[in-house]
Amino acid sequence: MMCFRISKNIPNLLTIVFSFLSTEFMISVMHGIEYCKDDIYIFTGTDEIPCPVCGAKLKVHGTCRRKLQTVDGEKHYRLRVMECTNEDCRKTHRELPPGIIPYKRMDAEKISKIAATTAAEHTKETDTSTWTSIRAWVVWFLEYASNLLAELKTDYDPSEKSLLDRLVFCVQAVANSQKWIQHRLM
Ligand SMILES: [Zn+2]
Repeated sequence: MMCFRISKNIPNLLTIVFSFLSTEFMISVMHGIEYCKDDIYIFTGTDEIPCPVCGAKLKVHGTCRRKLQTVDGEKHYRLRVMECTNEDCRKTHRELPPGIIPYKRMDAEKISKIAATTAAEHTKETDTSTWTSIRAWVVWFLEYASNLLAELKTDYDPSEKSLLDRLVFCVQAVANSQKWIQHRLM
């Protein structure tokens, strides 16, 4: 009876997890045009990224707002929302400029700066619990991304790169492969 109950509940749990994942698609682009108008940064990607779900072409569907904490203070963005042109897919994806991390309130530059701060220095930048969770998330994420890159057989050698460069590269690879996991660490 117990076994039956557990196995019966698994599909429900999977449905909850996948429905959460499937409603918030993001694509991360490396290149684009950015300009500031009335204190809002407007970003338009120039990379042609296909739909990460089905591979079809994407078209502009609309825009959305995003508030971010950066090393220069708070920045407001207007980002494009792209829609898949495949009638059977029609998924929408937020277009993220390089350095913007899905679901994070801080950009990659600020996160990598905090993560590189020593225990003695961090109080000037941020409080202890934020510092601890950012460092834990960066360690976890880079490990997760390097396993994923190996699985995808991506040719990438992070040894010569700065923490910021590694973070930006890995965010793009993970977001565009639809393997993003919203981790409880941060
Ligand atoms: Zn699609």
